[in-house]
Amino acid sequence: MTKPSNVTADYRARDAAHHIHAFSDMKSLNAEGSRVVVRAEGSWIWDSEGNRILDGMSGLWCVNIGHGRKEIAEAVQRQMADLSFYNTFFKSTHPPAIELAETLARLTPPQFNRVFFAGSGSEANDTVIRMVRHYWASLGKPEKSVLIARKNAYHGSTLGGGSLGGMTSIHSQGGLPIPGIHHIAQPYWFGEGGEMSPDEFGVFAARELEKAIDEIGEDRIAAFVAEPIQGAGGVIIPPATYWPEVKRILAERDILLVADEVITGFGRTGNWFGSETFEIEPDLMAFAKGVSSGYLPIGGVMVSDKVADVLYGAGEFHHGFTYSAHPVAAAAAVENLRILESEKLVERVRDDIGPYLQARWRALADHPLVGEARMTGLMGAIELVPNKPSRTEKFADTGKVGTIARDISLRNNLVMRAVRDSLIIAPPLTLSHDEADQLIASARKTLDDTQ
Ligand code: PLP
Repeated sequence: MTKPSNVTADYRARDAAHHIHAFSDMKSLNAEGSRVVVRAEGSWIWDSEGNRILDGMSGLWCVNIGHGRKEIAEAVQRQMADLSFYNTFFKSTHPPAIELAETLARLTPPQFNRVFFAGSGSEANDTVIRMVRHYWASLGKPEKSVLIARKNAYHGSTLGGGSLGGMTSIHSQGGLPIPGIHHIAQPYWFGEGGEMSPDEFGVFAARELEKAIDEIGEDRIAAFVAEPIQGAGGVIIPPATYWPEVKRILAERDILLVADEVITGFGRTGNWFGSETFEIEPDLMAFAKGVSSGYLPIGGVMVSDKVADVLYGAGEFHHGFTYSAHPVAAAAAVENLRILESEKLVERVRDDIGPYLQARWRALADHPLVGEARMTGLMGAIELVPNKPSRTEKFADTGKVGTIARDISLRNNLVMRAVRDSLIIAPPLTLSHDEADQLIASARKTLDDTQ
């Protein structure tokens, strides 16, 4: 390893002294030294060593319009000057909250005309848990309180979001999950499909929902909550048969469907929402990240007319956050949505850069280390395998070192994300064709270097 510059060494020492990082083993982080990112523009970030690195993860699945857009900075500055903060509690509102709510009602599927604002995806999902239970209680059915979610799903790391998520590592700390959450199998054909074809496995995984409903009882279940594509779990793109079968199962039952669109929303899958890509009609939709392209923290829950009409008749919902619809964050989101619309970035993912990158990403499957390369819209994964064509043998079983995804996800001036033995990308929707070529070249070089 080359010696870091004095500037980097200074940042690292100060960071190590005081900063507890999210989702990090602090001992090993401080031994290695943190990665210091100092600037970003478009699809690129710069670290404190002056390296220019392609941001294949859009920050953390959020910078959909690319980094450093001056229009957002200007909108934020204007809003700061006019009204830097006011709350939306106790019957107050302000113009950015109104404008953002109106814009979201227009851009989301037709059943959504009302929105509850939160500050993040985790808060959005905590809101979901309380809202679906409040909905059923308001209808005189408080016993309908169980939420069914999926193993390996990620819905945030608050008590509620972390419980709804199905990650055992999160459940192992801090007393999660809270009661009343039931997890079923994920539609992860590559890892768990066994001898079944993807289509067979899609139906099988969906029927886990049916089984759980039969076991727990429809009269006790409030909602099924799922990401259209599981993101942090490893870009688990469900087989084509999965969502139609879930739809069939839920059509026969009185259970709410909640789509967690925190990653899949705002163009990521080639439509405004992943629900549209998979033709599902959720009753609630959690969102965050891409709504503001991460320029400022904001999220929320889209509430269908069916649910909102009941809640509006049920008195006060004792829930909310100081920063629900924070005016400056809302102004950033409004400007972000204007850019997504005016530059037709969602259409661009569907018709242009999406298909362009997908074809090249899927071609990585010819590499000896790659068991599968999948991508929908601009979110993709490659599954690394020690022994093609076995889908089940893991690097951990072979004792091979240096080939684990985590070790190679940041090489050749490209940020990818490692999840188990897979490498993930979700670049900005503004990615140029030339940048897509560079992304693929870097990913291939990383694979080649690893053999
Ligand atoms: N839901 C999904 C699908 C996510 O991917 C995430 C974050 O990655 C969250 C919820 C939590 O969002 P936040 O980190 O803003 O709390």
